[in-house]
Amino acid sequence: MTNGTQIKQYGLYVDGQWEITSESMNVLNKYTQEPVAQISVATKKHVDTAVKSAKTALKENFTPFERYEVLMKAAQLLIERREEFARILTIEVGKSIRESRGEVDRSAQTLQISAEEAKRIHGEGVPVESALGSENRMAFTVRVPVGVIAAITPFNAPLNLVCHKIGPALAAGNSVVLKPAEVTPICAIKLASLLEEAGLPKDRLQVMTGNGAEVGEWLLDNQDISMFTFTGSPRVGELIRSKAGLRKVSLELGNNSATIVHKDSDLEKATTLVSQKSFNNAGQVCISVQRIYVHNDIYETFVAKLIEKTENFVVGDPLDEKTDIGPMIRLTEAERVEEWVNEAVEQGAQIELGGKRNGAFYSPTILTNVNDDMKVCRQEVFGPVVSIAPYEEIAEVIAKVNDSDYGLQAGLFTNDLQLTMKAAREIEVGGLIVNDASAYRVDHMPYGGVKKSGNGKEGPKYAIEEMTEERIIVLNL
Ligand code: NAD
Repeated sequence: MTNGTQIKQYGLYVDGQWEITSESMNVLNKYTQEPVAQISVATKKHVDTAVKSAKTALKENFTPFERYEVLMKAAQLLIERREEFARILTIEVGKSIRESRGEVDRSAQTLQISAEEAKRIHGEGVPVESALGSENRMAFTVRVPVGVIAAITPFNAPLNLVCHKIGPALAAGNSVVLKPAEVTPICAIKLASLLEEAGLPKDRLQVMTGNGAEVGEWLLDNQDISMFTFTGSPRVGELIRSKAGLRKVSLELGNNSATIVHKDSDLEKATTLVSQKSFNNAGQVCISVQRIYVHNDIYETFVAKLIEKTENFVVGDPLDEKTDIGPMIRLTEAERVEEWVNEAVEQGAQIELGGKRNGAFYSPTILTNVNDDMKVCRQEVFGPVVSIAPYEEIAEVIAKVNDSDYGLQAGLFTNDLQLTMKAAREIEVGGLIVNDASAYRVDHMPYGGVKKSGNGKEGPKYAIEEMTEERIIVLNL
């Protein structure tokens, strides 16, 4: 009970049943800090039962067309409940209601794309007959599911990033044990019940909520899991990789995304897109613009225009239609961002806009006079802070972009074809976005990073390649 109001309790989804456990955790409204729900805390026994049940489910036939139908139906139900899901997202994450509606729309698309891909999974002919002594043989490959997949997801886009795991995994014929982020689990739980309603066979999906480190360790200990698909911090990603042994691992991790603005770029367009793509979800987006490198010739104008386009963002109640930016996920996260900005200022950075904290809110912040070794540049800020630095030579700026532990996506504003080609060849990232900022993603494109940004690709078609094994069949005729 809170303030005399009964709050909703959510169970684990295990062995086809919803089970409320004796131990629970509160989920907070990130704006009011009031508890809005209680989630069940899984024990090792629950995790082992869930994995066993997911493994048993694989024995039942679930045809590609049935997978297509279930995922399409789930997408349709999600569209019908757009407003309900958007409100939950805003309450549990703190992102603005307009952004949440966008996430629900994209989640429905991710399910639809996964459904379509379910019908296209195929192998290829292999011309073994061209090898001496194999003249009478024929061969082809088929793609088979890997088995039970553990999906572990982060707090910042807790609906679409769950769809990016569950959609392709189910489309490819696997079973999934999902462990959503403990601070934002409600959308994932609701999605599981929506998939159940859409006709997903009992046991194909299990949801384990609770403490990340504990549930994570029990999942890693369970050898019936064939693959881990993880989106989250590099720290946890490395831990999963080190404990998964020879099993498959796909990791979508952090970034300190750079965007280059060259002297020939359309400044109106560049400043509009950069201001829109730096502060969404209070900067808690893995491809959010963080480092901006601007050519000397346009540097002063760019800074002035970016301030102008950012200073009127409304920070406040994320359920209010007028709000652009809500609170960060936790007070301690806003305090960390404040500390990093203060440290940068002590090291010589200048605050052009923002730099103010009010509880868990951090105002959109623009820094200049920065150097690449400040934490706000070198590490992943994951907050509403951008740093702008000037450059003169292209080779110099490409080296700066690459001087990072990360490599998820980068942006480049230019109309110069030579420069575009050079950047496409030399910038070390999973994706280069030309004439836009780093934060561009549509859900069917291949998405994933290099270096500490992880490995493996998302986007249903590409995720399905990771979530299936290629088996060759050789016919001796
Ligand atoms: P996090 O790593 O703290 O948590 C992610 C998930 O891992 C949660 O479900 C958590 O409970 C679980 N977890 C925690 N400890 C674990 C352990 N020991 N073993 C197994 N699981 C464990 O990340 P976060 O704070 O939720 O998310 C922010 C991070 O996610 C940022 O670094 C961001 O860049 C990254 N991210 C990346 C992408 C991408 O596509 N590359 C997308 C979104 C977020």
